[in-house]
Amino acid sequence: MSLKAKIKAGAESLGFVAIGFTSVEPVPGLQRFKGWIDAGRHAGMAYLASQRSLETRSDPRKLLPSCRTVISLLSAYPPPRDRGSEPLPGSGRIAAYALQSDYHDVLTRRLEKLVELIAEMAGRQVETYACVDSSPILEKGYAQQAGLGWIGRNSLLYNPEYGSWTNLSELLIDLEVDPDLPFEVDGCGECQLCVRACPTQAIMPDRTIDARRCLSYLTIENRGVIPVEFRKAMGNRVFGCDQCQSVCPVNKKTRVKTREPVIEDFPDLAESISLSEEEYKLKYRHTPVWRTKFAGFRRNIAIAMGNSGQKRFIPLLEKALTDSPDPVVADAIAWALKELI
Ligand code: SF4
Ligand code: SF4
Repeated sequence: MSLKAKIKAGAESLGFVAIGFTSVEPVPGLQRFKGWIDAGRHAGMAYLASQRSLETRSDPRKLLPSCRTVISLLSAYPPPRDRGSEPLPGSGRIAAYALQSDYHDVLTRRLEKLVELIAEMAGRQVETYACVDSSPILEKGYAQQAGLGWIGRNSLLYNPEYGSWTNLSELLIDLEVDPDLPFEVDGCGECQLCVRACPTQAIMPDRTIDARRCLSYLTIENRGVIPVEFRKAMGNRVFGCDQCQSVCPVNKKTRVKTREPVIEDFPDLAESISLSEEEYKLKYRHTPVWRTKFAGFRRNIAIAMGNSGQKRFIPLLEKALTDSPDPVVADAIAWALKELI
């Protein structure tokens, strides 16, 4: 068995569902990334626009000078559960990827184990750099170049078998491994379903997302107020948004089976607004929902309550307002009360 085949088998044994190899040479996508930054579509994620971010994206050898190969790895997560009917009135909705244990921790551990396996296979120590999600590399470009899929109109990587219900990670490594063929087919064809379904028109014609309009960014990374013009569109989303993925025909045929989430996908809003910071921490610390922090979570819950039409939430919101020194949360609660009164 070749070293490449052994690495693939080792990665699969650790739970990665698709693995591809490409050389460390720059991949297409840098100009699109720079254009996205220049247009301000990265919103408050200033770290993406730093000199370092642009340098490492143009050449990953800035992260690992001895790098010869980029290994792209996909991990799959279950799509949102099909409840057969709308969730109970008065519940929120959490994006599917966030219902499992925090993928940063899971994937970092998996990559560490993979490095050990590769060192055994190669018969020497290997120099590596592990990238999970926020690392400054054009990860979708490398994944496409490594044959794992195409970049869909909603900017996500689509794999023919697993759709976009995946997390990407990369291992930069100092071994030279035969590259795979790039994925050349555009699986989107003439389809525009995600563009039409996006509740805030955040999907741009060049297959990028305007984060300033995207509910996923606004409810997670954004630490400030959510602009009033997008609050109605949030509906009951309290963490992230699966809309553009849920309508995608490719995603309807994926292989990942439903498995029990580690947190509830439709949390009760009344219970959620009443959580203390300690209770929030206990419940969400080891899931991606921790990312939005306590204030962001309460802000999102308050807006979902405002969108619920449920007057029974008014006393809970009034109590939360007196308990909330955070101006961002107070602003969301005041808005929700106005919607309900
Ligand atoms: S995640 Fe939601 S808001 Fe963001 S682009 Fe997709 S559908 Fe639009
Ligand atoms: S909904 Fe259509 S256009 Fe959007 S990513 Fe899926 S296939 Fe591509």
